[in-house]
Amino acid sequence: MDNQTGVDSSGFEELGLRPQLLASLSALGYEEPTPIQREAIPLLLRGHDLLGQAATGTGKTAAFALPILEKIDVARSKPAPSALVLVPTRELAMQVSEAIYKYGHQLGAKCVPIYGGQPIGRQIDALRRGTHVVVATPGRALDHIRKETLELGDVEMVVLDEADEMLDMGFAEDLDAILESLPAARQTVLFSATMPPRIEKIAREHLSEPVRVTIERKASQPGSIPLVRQTAYMVPRFHKPAALGRILDIEAPEAAIVFCRTRGEVDQLTETLNGRGYRAEALHGGMDQEQRDRVMGRVRAGTADLLIATDVAARGLDIEHLTHVVNFDVPSAPESYVHRIGRVGRAGREGVAITIAEPREQRMLHNIERLTKQKISFEKVPSVEALRAKQMELTTENVREALGLPDLVAFDEVIDELSKEFSITDIARAAIKLAHDAEQSTLEEVEIPDLSVERPERGGKRERDSFRDREHGGKRERGERFSGKTSRLWVSVGRKSGVRPADLVGAIANESGVPGRDIGVRIFDSHSVVEVPASRAAHVIDSMRNTIIRGKRATVRHFKED
Ligand code: ADP
Ligand code: MG
Repeated sequence: MDNQTGVDSSGFEELGLRPQLLASLSALGYEEPTPIQREAIPLLLRGHDLLGQAATGTGKTAAFALPILEKIDVARSKPAPSALVLVPTRELAMQVSEAIYKYGHQLGAKCVPIYGGQPIGRQIDALRRGTHVVVATPGRALDHIRKETLELGDVEMVVLDEADEMLDMGFAEDLDAILESLPAARQTVLFSATMPPRIEKIAREHLSEPVRVTIERKASQPGSIPLVRQTAYMVPRFHKPAALGRILDIEAPEAAIVFCRTRGEVDQLTETLNGRGYRAEALHGGMDQEQRDRVMGRVRAGTADLLIATDVAARGLDIEHLTHVVNFDVPSAPESYVHRIGRVGRAGREGVAITIAEPREQRMLHNIERLTKQKISFEKVPSVEALRAKQMELTTENVREALGLPDLVAFDEVIDELSKEFSITDIARAAIKLAHDAEQSTLEEVEIPDLSVERPERGGKRERDSFRDREHGGKRERGERFSGKTSRLWVSVGRKSGVRPADLVGAIANESGVPGRDIGVRIFDSHSVVEVPASRAAHVIDSMRNTIIRGKRATVRHFKED
């Protein structure tokens, strides 16, 4: 079922779309179809079922929306929907519905979004007035189906957008129920950024002889600049908020989204960043629909420059002017990293993805590099000095710009007055200080320890280097913090292999996630003994399998005193 249609003409005209659609596309500045659009649109116009895989930001919405719009009958008054699009979240329902409106309004196409959190009565009214397309979240779609307020008898095409996310959110049964209530003769389209087995299962059950279209994420060519510059910073947990603030100060993003794991983290970080002078807005599932709409409005209007969000709340959102995606922690599933950074570098624009990691998350970063076939380069957290230098640079720029303003002579009387007492240089200094303090953060800044290490590749396997010596000079006493029951483990490398305490603590913390302060070590000539919390001992042994320390494969087992 692989796709064999080598469409090689360019432009949307060749795809055979109506003139009103072509007009809308050119008004939107779409010059060329993206690869997924070029492949999918002709197939869908010909009536095939389709299983499409393409990364976030590759233009999947238009890939299904244009064929839907091509097929609708605009002459019918009060139409029952001929297309149903299912999406995981209400934000996405609104976004996709807006996109369909943008592409289709010249045609007179009607589209109604239906999602939870909005009064169902209003949606019932909108459906009753007639619409060509419905974009719905599965739960709310099912509510309408049960109430018999959503007429599906005319549906010719159903689209499952972000199908993997819908499954992750537990919509599998709802999807089954919805798909079963649709006319059997319809066309079914499934889009997903990833293709786990559960997606294949849905496809087997509900798609009929689908054509499979996969748009490979291109591995970055050596020497070429990837569209999304991916960097990571390694800092101790406690310093993460400050590190983020500092990095943002230096990067000066036009607009950024910061992903956090939990609602609590979102709220806290929003507060911290607002305290730093940013206009940060929180977005998470604990907020009601009205609050979330307001936040998205401010972000889209550019009155907020940072959106701090959980994955679920921000799923699939396309924010026009986004330049930076920040992972406040390393997502545990590489796929969700891919989803997150897909928010930038969209449709050929450049973007930056920044990950703030703790040492124990290093392995997850490595997995992500493997999956994306792209390198994430470690950078050092900017020092206080670098921050100050950057701020001076910005102030210099601001003053330089002001020197070009027209009405500067209006201030001559201030200068005349002050110059009776002070030199022009002193007056300039004071004026610049005012300008500087008005724009730049003057918060007390502390140095943030940087735990990133060089990661030499050796024999294809990454050597575990120490991350502790920078921070603590490599010295520690055994079990100084951990007060519970401990277990001792025997490790097959020692002083003769050049192992230092810091190497060992670093390797164990990295591999097992046991915090360094809970690990005690003693190094002997040809072996070492480490002490870890008893409850984690088996896990440590397990996670240290095949670990390389100072270039040597280390074996770890329970220590037997004899
Ligand atoms: P996906 O669903 O694959 O994540 P979207 O459909 O949200 O991607 O599209 C990402 C962005 O690219 C949107 O801002 C959209 O307007 C833009 N876009 C889509 N197709 C094109 C195109 N052919 N030319 C220019 N921009 C496009
Ligand atoms: Mg999408």
